[in-house]
Amino acid sequence: MGKRLSAETVSLIDRVVAEYHRPDRIGLDPLGFPRRFPEPGDREVVALLAACLAWGRVQQIAQVMERLLERLGDHPAERMRSADEEDLKRITQGIIHRVATSADLARALDRIGGVLRDHGSLGALFRQGDRGDDPTVMTALTALSERLRDDGANATRGFKHLFPQPSLGSACKRWMLFLRWVVRPDDGVDLGLWEGISPSRLVIPLDTHIHRIALNLRLTRRRDASLRTALEVTEALRGWRPDDPVGCDFALSRLGIHQVCPTRVDPVVCEGCGLRSACRHGL
Ligand code: SF4
Repeated sequence: MGKRLSAETVSLIDRVVAEYHRPDRIGLDPLGFPRRFPEPGDREVVALLAACLAWGRVQQIAQVMERLLERLGDHPAERMRSADEEDLKRITQGIIHRVATSADLARALDRIGGVLRDHGSLGALFRQGDRGDDPTVMTALTALSERLRDDGANATRGFKHLFPQPSLGSACKRWMLFLRWVVRPDDGVDLGLWEGISPSRLVIPLDTHIHRIALNLRLTRRRDASLRTALEVTEALRGWRPDDPVGCDFALSRLGIHQVCPTRVDPVVCEGCGLRSACRHGL
């Protein structure tokens, strides 16, 4: 059981979830890309691609995903499973995303295809690396990440950035986002692809928005965007829902993304904010 949240904070988070955790709030969120595909296998690989690329401006992420998906066709999992080097080059030619070059993207698609060939799915490899006594997803995530990174001597910065390494202690927001999507049940927002893994083991995808709101709600006092901070915020949110602490992530992050809770504290906005009574800036 996590830190004791006041009944008021619990009820305020409930209200935010009721308002924002809805399919009509997905908008340009990268989560919309896997939802375009009916097959679970396609959803899984498209979810990983969308999560890996989820850094930077949302419009640019969308543009890169649109181009990749157009070239991958209607069955991206099968395409990645069977693509050879030349095909991967054709798929990614001219597409870059910040530090990730076309060659980095081709390499990432090749690694995902390799996992599909060897294990059948990303979920199968994740389960294989899972240790029953780990209360979080970290052990299994580390195994999945290591297999995808397959650290050769010539791994570039861009490629490494696509698949962050959990053992380095960063919050690994994009990994945690992917895991939230595939592990939480399909509720019209998350995808519910990996049955049998308890959402209680997930870790909050700690981005700047969630970090700011967690500080505001006194879920943590830590200022660093580290895995330790993400675990501390998750632990605090067990006081909201012990069995699904990150179930409020999508909703709380909307407050930050849409500047409902602005980056710079604005007393006028705070005056009308529903979280005001639980917020360190609101009183
Ligand atoms: S009271 Fe102000 S700072 Fe606090 S959550 Fe609301 S908008 Fe953000």
